Amino acid sequence: MNIGGIVARAALLKEQMKKRPCKRCGLLYDPTKDKRCPHCDHLDQKGLEALIEKRKREHQGNKQLGKVFFFVALVIFMLMLILWLSQSI
Ligand SMILES: [Zn+2]
Repeated sequence: MNIGGIVARAALLKEQMKKRPCKRCGLLYDPTKDKRCPHCDHLDQKGLEALIEKRKREHQGNKQLGKVFFFVALVIFMLMLILWLSQSI
């Protein structure tokens, strides 16, 4: 058991819980630390739209990556199954 890792995770979770989603851009920020959202306060409407668009694309990319990982896991599973079947015959 890695106690240090758990403590670090708990601290991170605590930080995350302090954060609130920005009404304008939807990204999380800490209202006790920043009066205004650090992500979009300096942006105009055009910049905000670009930021939201970028976030959407990143999200899409993460979804793609998830699919790739699932596929790789599936291939490894199949290979192990084939190996196991060929040994038992
Ligand atoms: Zn914002």
